[in-house]
Amino acid sequence: MHIYSDPASEHHLENIPHIEAPARFPAALAGVQYAQESGTRLEHRTCKPAPRSALEDAHAPSYLDQLEELCASGGGYLDFDTALDQHSWSAVTLASGAAIGAVESALSGTPAFAIVRPPGHHAGRDYGMGFCLINHIAVAAEYARSQGIERVAILDWDVHHGNGTQDIFYYSGDVLYLSAHRSPFYPGTGGAREIGEGRGQGFTVNAPLPARSGEDLYAAVFAGLFIPILREFRPGLILVSAGYDAHRADPLGGMQLEGDSFGRFTAELTAVAREVGAAPLALLLEGGYNLDALTQSVAATINGAEQEAPGWEYAADAGSVEAARRALAPFWHSLR
Ligand SMILES: [Zn+2]
Repeated sequence: MHIYSDPASEHHLENIPHIEAPARFPAALAGVQYAQESGTRLEHRTCKPAPRSALEDAHAPSYLDQLEELCASGGGYLDFDTALDQHSWSAVTLASGAAIGAVESALSGTPAFAIVRPPGHHAGRDYGMGFCLINHIAVAAEYARSQGIERVAILDWDVHHGNGTQDIFYYSGDVLYLSAHRSPFYPGTGGAREIGEGRGQGFTVNAPLPARSGEDLYAAVFAGLFIPILREFRPGLILVSAGYDAHRADPLGGMQLEGDSFGRFTAELTAVAREVGAAPLALLLEGGYNLDALTQSVAATINGAEQEAPGWEYAADAGSVEAARRALAPFWHSLR
């Protein structure tokens, strides 16, 4: 696996006390180190800032100007919990560059993980929120499309719904967005009936889950919803918004996943990618606020790419999954 990161990730908000803290970056890299020590073959890659044109594929030019100017003038706040400082522009453009690098590796046949901060999945075309400024996974999806990949899937297992990613691709039938998240919870979106509009109808897949959900329910979401839709969609590339705030130790998430749960998610997705002839996975770090849990979960994710898939089967009795299956059944044969 190729690991893309840049030290700029650690300078964003280095002088502002914040739960999305610089210490998350070395904690995630410690997970990379653990995976390497346990025998997984890894290669560290440097990244370049994403070119302006790649950022504009996901964001409005006026919004990018606003962010860049705010950073150049020393920083500020987009909302009460979304801060930026003089280092943020460099951090976010390199983070999007890392996401692009991860796509390049995946399209060349090697799975990749972009270890970056700040996260991106709450940022929409012309807004930032929820610690997110630039939507790196959206930049990565658009980049893959520009490289000739007709169908791209984004799977988001962060505990929060990726409202920004959903918004950016809500009218697209070329980019499939799948999210399992706690609901009701921040940011308030991600209901089972939010399925996309226009050409995008059926291409937004939301699995809202109750607080304290554990791996059993996530396994039902994969087996009863995500995997059958991915098989039918046949993406050329699967991108993962890999947030770790659904870990049981996370101070924000309130879910019950273990570090190893993320390894099983990765193994399952790696198997489906192979089955449908997609490129290997490209993963991107989103949330995750307990540092030890972040380390463990990143290591488990990386190791999971070389482990056997759990092969979960759906037992048709999970209420949260059934609502989503019903909403999406008109668009996917495999759910009928
Ligand atoms: Zn989150």
